[in-house]
Amino acid sequence: MAWLRPSSRPPGVEMPQSDLRQTVRERLASGWLFPAPSQTWAGKGTGHVCIVCGITIQSSEVENEVVGPTTVWSHVPCYSIWREESQTYELAKSADGTDGRDRSHHLAGLRQTVRERFANRRLFVLPHDKSWTERGKSDICAVCSKPIFAAELSQEVIGASQARAHLVCYRAWLLESIAVRQSDGRSSAESADTAAS
Ligand SMILES: [Zn+2]
Ligand SMILES: [Zn+2]
Repeated sequence: MAWLRPSSRPPGVEMPQSDLRQTVRERLASGWLFPAPSQTWAGKGTGHVCIVCGITIQSSEVENEVVGPTTVWSHVPCYSIWREESQTYELAKSADGTDGRDRSHHLAGLRQTVRERFANRRLFVLPHDKSWTERGKSDICAVCSKPIFAAELSQEVIGASQARAHLVCYRAWLLESIAVRQSDGRSSAESADTAAS
């Protein structure tokens, strides 16, 4: 990926806009990126990595804090593209006859995947919510089995087994793990430490 060039282009648009738009469209379609909400918080850059272009937001720039299934950050121009593409995406989705009102559709689908994987033991129940957000390391997502690209953010799970997942996938995984832990706690204790958490 050689789109970091020394040039005087304004920050946040190192990737040609048309490419960035295409990337956003693909990520929305694959569910990697959630549709951008209309409300964001703007502030001075605090060193977060832009979810859209993968470049760090400098303190001299304005960052948008975007709260969806998880909190992410983006450059202002990157957010505009993301928001525009999200509107197109949601319109197309509702024209499809699929549920255009259900913004958590993708998360719900992922939670279903997580439940199935818990059932056939392909995924472990998260013992806690400790994890790191970091730049992707070209790994395979533990939840959806799709690749995590180097420029993407991923969530690294801390525990016995190392695992990485996309932010949205991790969110589904965490929610399902909490649900499992709660139901384990209610239906007698096979393991005594479940109650302690
Ligand atoms: Zn950006
Ligand atoms: Zn994933």
